[in-house]
Amino acid sequence: MHQALPAASPLLDGRADVVAAAGALAERLPARLAPFARIAYNYCWSWDPDAEDLFQAIDPQRWELCNGNPIRLLTETSSKALQRAVGDDLLIGRAEAMLGRLTAELARPPMASRASERHPVAFLCAEFGIHRSLPIYAGGLGVLAGDILKEASDLALPMVGVGLLYREGYFLQRTDASGYQHEYWRPVDPERLPAALVLGPDGVPLTVPVPLRGREVVVQVWRVEVGRTPLYLLDAERPENGRVDRWITGRLYVADRAIRLAQYALLGIGSVRALRAMGIDPCIIHLNEGHGGLAPLELARTEMLAGHDRSTAFALARERTVFTTHTPVAAGNEGYDVSEVQSVLGEYPSQVGLDDAGFLQLGRTQPDNPHEPFVMTPLGIKMSRFANGVSRRHGEVARQMWRPLFPERPADTVPISHVTNGVHLPTWMGTPMRRLLDRYLGEGWVGRASDLTTWKAVEGIPDEELWEVRNTQRAALVEMARDRTIANRLDRSDPREYVEAAERGLTEHALTIGFARRLATYKRLYLLYTDPERIRDVLDGSTLPVQFLVAGKAHPSDEEGKRSPQGLFALKNDPRSAERISFLDNYDLAIALQMVGGCDLWINLPRPPLEASGTSGMKAAMNGGLNLSTLDGWWAEGFDITNGWGLPGDVAFDTHVQDQRDAAIFFDVLQNEVVPLFYDRGADGVPHGWIAMVKRSLMSIGPRFSAKRMLLDYVHEAYELL
Ligand SMILES: *Cc1c(COP(=O)(O)O)cnc(C)c1O
Repeated sequence: MHQALPAASPLLDGRADVVAAAGALAERLPARLAPFARIAYNYCWSWDPDAEDLFQAIDPQRWELCNGNPIRLLTETSSKALQRAVGDDLLIGRAEAMLGRLTAELARPPMASRASERHPVAFLCAEFGIHRSLPIYAGGLGVLAGDILKEASDLALPMVGVGLLYREGYFLQRTDASGYQHEYWRPVDPERLPAALVLGPDGVPLTVPVPLRGREVVVQVWRVEVGRTPLYLLDAERPENGRVDRWITGRLYVADRAIRLAQYALLGIGSVRALRAMGIDPCIIHLNEGHGGLAPLELARTEMLAGHDRSTAFALARERTVFTTHTPVAAGNEGYDVSEVQSVLGEYPSQVGLDDAGFLQLGRTQPDNPHEPFVMTPLGIKMSRFANGVSRRHGEVARQMWRPLFPERPADTVPISHVTNGVHLPTWMGTPMRRLLDRYLGEGWVGRASDLTTWKAVEGIPDEELWEVRNTQRAALVEMARDRTIANRLDRSDPREYVEAAERGLTEHALTIGFARRLATYKRLYLLYTDPERIRDVLDGSTLPVQFLVAGKAHPSDEEGKRSPQGLFALKNDPRSAERISFLDNYDLAIALQMVGGCDLWINLPRPPLEASGTSGMKAAMNGGLNLSTLDGWWAEGFDITNGWGLPGDVAFDTHVQDQRDAAIFFDVLQNEVVPLFYDRGADGVPHGWIAMVKRSLMSIGPRFSAKRMLLDYVHEAYELL
């Protein structure tokens, strides 16, 4: 059916190249440390509760300086520290045990399905959030993509990820003393990542050409191991390419529109070509958001080369494509006009048997309207066998939104379904919580995390033990937050009194409230300070201390988002606010992990219906945090009255009125329900009512919002692999 690849040709998929890189690193280390080199080249360690501090133990300070990158740690640690590790039998034993677990993990047979190593599910995304040391993610979309690759590994589902290797990654954030966001970038050195260039049969880097901007741009391919799942990253940093073309893989969501479109074309066309060159012929291509939307066209092109006519080729490509849309916000469905598409894609449409007009029609809701821009989302919907939104409510919103694509159908029969997002438990659950559940939920419970019955045993956990875990995780968060807040304030040249207020004010036993996410206007951070008297009032209840930890990045060209923390910073002359409100710069996976682990209350205040899903609230729930959020996205289906607090999810007629109302309700719930419940302590000092709600939250959210449930939904409903 597909253009024949010699059946016996060996897979040139880079696996051996990663093994060789690990071997080369092992040779540079003292012999007893060889297991560390092998572990370092597979991110599997990052979600193994017994291994997460293995590298850190070698040299804790260096580990932070290396931003948790094990390759850099092993190459940059002093020989004195390495020698100390060599003499630490316990540490060596733990590394050997981890290597044993990794080897066993890789040797497990794959899930029985029509997917296989040669014909895996190819998961395409512009960003992947695997670990803080691999800075090729911006936010929720990438973190979800990372969670899916990890869960595919846990389920032994044959999957490969394909993305881009950005040589400067995503921006780093620094807010100034006024609360305005500034951006800077740091070069990423792929030689020092746990990644290896995929080599061709001749031993030189495998490359594929992609027709772009009127010429052929050459890309090479890096392989990163994510447990059993390889992640391939395309990279235009090749001597064949001019400087501007090399810049295509310079920065994630680069500001220049034409270059951004070239990135997406590179991802779509390049991924199919690179996989093919490695001997991989995916049984399904899953487009995670529209960026890789040209992939099914490239699939169709190969079918035409194999002799099929255009309509058969398109049908075959569609049969292999699954498309997930993630956003009802206009900026997430970016449109390109005719000249932009033509200048980036050049002759490519003719290679898939279309003239320019026919090609542009694929990206429009009204194909014959020449003024309608070209958007990847309609392309994805038209070129896929299965399309979905990422929560039940978002499914409804997406059907409404894309109804013009199906003018003959009523909205509720538009063929866009939903698969609600979930989070990868072993990544997001703090170690104390994991240990507690290991004791009460039974052997191998993580493998059964998507069964309702698995979580029943939460009921029987003694309140004191659960409370103890909450206290431990909160204390770890507060320690990090205090340290970072002081460092951030010093960096901003804030007055010393303000710096010291954080040292004094952030305390480990206070009700800790977290708000951390992309600073897009629709997320409504400003509801916290539209009426400053309300937040002051909450903070002033000095016998019942409450503290707010806030973090998040705004897109560099979103001026309103970049200014949005200023309303919080404006409170800093108020002593209580100075002590108990902290904005943590440079939100990333590491800060997220600590915040969702330690916050008692997680808040999300989006303007309905713009939150497609939201996932950070699920992460907080898995750690025993409670949600107080707008009934939009995932929370509209997660909230059941007993497991947290819900704010109205109605769609606004007058957004100003809605904001005033929602801010008032938010503070009412906080002051009248949340704070009293948290501080209602038994004689034993334990807030039994609060813990009862935590248990209901764990039992109801744990099974339904895990990545395991999500990926199994994709396997059954979208990929139809079984
Ligand atoms: C989970 C996560 C997100 C997404 O959070 P939302 O609740 O969907 O806004 C963004 N960034 C990081 C680093 C995350 O871990």
